[in-house]
Amino acid sequence: MAVAVQLTHVTKAFDTTLAVNDVSLKIERGEFFFLLGPSGCGKSTFLRIVAGFYKPDTGELKFDDTIVNNVPPHQRNTGMVFQNYALWPHMSVAENIAYGLTLRKLGKSERDEKITSALEMVQMVDYRDRAVNTLSGGQQQRIALARALVIEPSVLLLDEPISNLDAALRQQMRDEIKQIHDRTNITMFYVTHDQVDALSMADRMAIMQDGVIIQVGTPREVYQFPKNTFVASFVGETNFISGKVQNASNGSATIETSVGTLHSETVYHNLSDGTPVQCSIRPEALIVNSENDDNHAENTITAKITAVNYLGRIEEYQLVAADVPLKAVHYNPGIETKKPGDTVQLAIAAEAIIPLPD
Ligand code: ATP
Repeated sequence: MAVAVQLTHVTKAFDTTLAVNDVSLKIERGEFFFLLGPSGCGKSTFLRIVAGFYKPDTGELKFDDTIVNNVPPHQRNTGMVFQNYALWPHMSVAENIAYGLTLRKLGKSERDEKITSALEMVQMVDYRDRAVNTLSGGQQQRIALARALVIEPSVLLLDEPISNLDAALRQQMRDEIKQIHDRTNITMFYVTHDQVDALSMADRMAIMQDGVIIQVGTPREVYQFPKNTFVASFVGETNFISGKVQNASNGSATIETSVGTLHSETVYHNLSDGTPVQCSIRPEALIVNSENDDNHAENTITAKITAVNYLGRIEEYQLVAADVPLKAVHYNPGIETKKPGDTVQLAIAAEAIIPLPD
């Protein structure tokens, strides 16, 4: 049932805005694929192209081996879940879900069975006869999911489906949506600006900026090996220290920066001597030691703490080193703490320093 979705050189413009700019991408059959990017980057336009609400100006869209550019939305067998649920408020839960089946001309008993199994999937069997407008936001979103799943879609499209929910419920829905994917193995395509959604649920994700796909990879690949400074700062948090490559070879480089010489063992761009770079260093990779620790070791920076933010599980430090603002995260902080004004040594593993072309 599940299909692979393939776009080849797909473009869609509105007047002078290129919302989707020459995108080529393949979502594998049964994959849980994310499109992640900031507001206005073209995510919804991309999703609407896959759903059939927009036709690409150029390029080709395929479901498995079939070109579907001219297939209308209701013939694509896609399920859709929106941020605002888009349910009929005065209908019951069962009527809402049944609506997805009306085109399919099923007998009553078969329809009832399908409604029950869709409700089981979202753990809402007991709510079958409730009016939708008496449900909470989280419950309504489960019904929207059930309505999309009941038709056994070839691909399930999700547009920021949990953005309206509070933080605790969002986390619960992430777990449940992922479990639904694991159980059904439907091809799922989820667009969001929320990196936590993508990092926690995706098999693979694409990062989009201004209509262009910048990078595609697993969450770990994208977080650990961002292709450029945009991806490094959009997916997770990072520090940037600007510098110039002194020499680079075989995956390592020496970089001159205002905070001193840094040695990187994670170089995956072609960097010639003299290339300006931004060294991306994640906050958790800055190890905060006290002032008196060895400051001659490689990749050690002297910095001053400007603010301390204690959050229980973690402690965040704002620092400054030679006018470069930095952020460090310390896990499992004890009773002792460092204070604003303290001078510290920051130690960084060479593997955690990623020079990216400026
Ligand atoms: P958001 O996260 O805010 O929903 P998005 O990443 O989904 O944003 P799109 O809604 O796809 O972005 O919009 C991409 C670009 O295309 C934006 O510049 C937007 O203003 C423009 N755009 C989208 N739809 C239309 C339209 N119907 N007419 C004109 N311009 C449009």
